[in-house]
Amino acid sequence: MRYVSTRGRAPELGFADVLLAGLAPDGGLYVPVDWPSLPEHLPSGSYQELATVVMAPFVGDDIPADVFARLVDEAYASFRHEAVTPLRQLAADDWLLDLSQGPTLAFKDVALQLVGRMFDYVLGVRNERVMIVGATSGDTGSAAIDGVKSCSNVDIVILYPHGRTSDVQRKQMTTVDSPNVHAVAVEGTFDDCQDLVKAMFNDAPFRDRMRLSAVNSINWARVMAQTVYYVYATQQLGWRPTSFSVPTGNFGNVLAGWIARRMGAPIRSLVVGSNQNDILTRFFETRSMVADTVVPTLSPSMDIQVSSNFERLLFEMNNRDGGVTAEQLQRFRSVGRLDVETDQFERWIAPVFRAARFDDSETLRIIGEVRSATGEIIDPHTAVGIGAARLHRSPGIPMVTTLTAHAAKFPDAVEQATGSRPALPPHLADLLERPERTQTLPNDLGAVQRFVESVAR
Ligand SMILES: *Cc1c(COP(=O)(O)O)cnc(C)c1O
Repeated sequence: MRYVSTRGRAPELGFADVLLAGLAPDGGLYVPVDWPSLPEHLPSGSYQELATVVMAPFVGDDIPADVFARLVDEAYASFRHEAVTPLRQLAADDWLLDLSQGPTLAFKDVALQLVGRMFDYVLGVRNERVMIVGATSGDTGSAAIDGVKSCSNVDIVILYPHGRTSDVQRKQMTTVDSPNVHAVAVEGTFDDCQDLVKAMFNDAPFRDRMRLSAVNSINWARVMAQTVYYVYATQQLGWRPTSFSVPTGNFGNVLAGWIARRMGAPIRSLVVGSNQNDILTRFFETRSMVADTVVPTLSPSMDIQVSSNFERLLFEMNNRDGGVTAEQLQRFRSVGRLDVETDQFERWIAPVFRAARFDDSETLRIIGEVRSATGEIIDPHTAVGIGAARLHRSPGIPMVTTLTAHAAKFPDAVEQATGSRPALPPHLADLLERPERTQTLPNDLGAVQRFVESVAR
């Protein structure tokens, strides 16, 4: 498979190059030159078997089939449930797809456990190394660290804001005892951490000398790995028309559902759930994307105004015209507003996408209601998904909400909603007692760069 940039001014690349590049050199995101169809007969055995078949056309010859199958097996061996992403019924036509069974208890593990292993393989073949740098406010950092902690060709430095992550989130990063993993507390905010990462990438000599790389949510391989569970859930439900509700931030998860649909999975609607940071919900209601300021909520992984993966859908809406897409995004950056034509909206959005928003008090109420009605204890992100699912259900069509994090990652909100504090699963039961390994650095580019140099192997 070859890949093109959504902004139309980058060379076509194969899968392995796209994996390592992340962002295209023209600032765009990579997408396959065309969307493959799912084979008529999908394997109905394990998740792993299905995963290798669904992803095979995207990977092509860049990773030999037997190696790829092994990487998939290894990636999902770290999940606690044999089904990898088990489906649970809440009520008639009301389902939960549990994506929190990975090592760090968030859906990002589904992609990052595989992406880390593919990085290591491809780098090993090329006899290269990379230094992954990233900033995190919580979930992404721990999932990225866990995904690469056993890689011999990857080092990782994750910056997090000192004193501003939850104990569970921090401990998940600082208790990993691998020589290639470095969690750094920066004396600043999450935005300061992000600015430091950007500044490191913008320092070209440093970037090249350190071979900097990123595994952020625009990386094509992450989206690819997420398409699998949409196919899997639809298959589990008998391959009949099925809708999904997805608590959404950067639009990566729900885009994977759109791709599964594009490949032939019988997916009816994709419901986008937002918290108060509702730029996407407003877009689906009005056809205009209008940027606003980010407000902190109980579902921090959705506290996002610009959903970077939306660019891939926009590219499709523009009939894959990268020039038009680049221009639209340029205008969005300068005036904070992006409009699409009625016919584009009617063709691409209206038949598939629905949206809904929930504020923190509604989120807490949903957590409490789901607990009383089903016994299921859900986190605030998943609660937004459940709320959106309820609003957009159609009779006779199964509605699957993607459960994106284990409730124990957000114990304060869950305790507020239900009166009891969710326990961590057994493999993390002693997490808060484990010894931490961390560095505190000032919010200073020079200091952070010197640290990165000192730990690069
Ligand atoms: C990252 C994350 C999301 C948002 O997913 P996107 O792919 O960015 O839309 C939702 N819930 C949780 C728990 C997450 O960690």
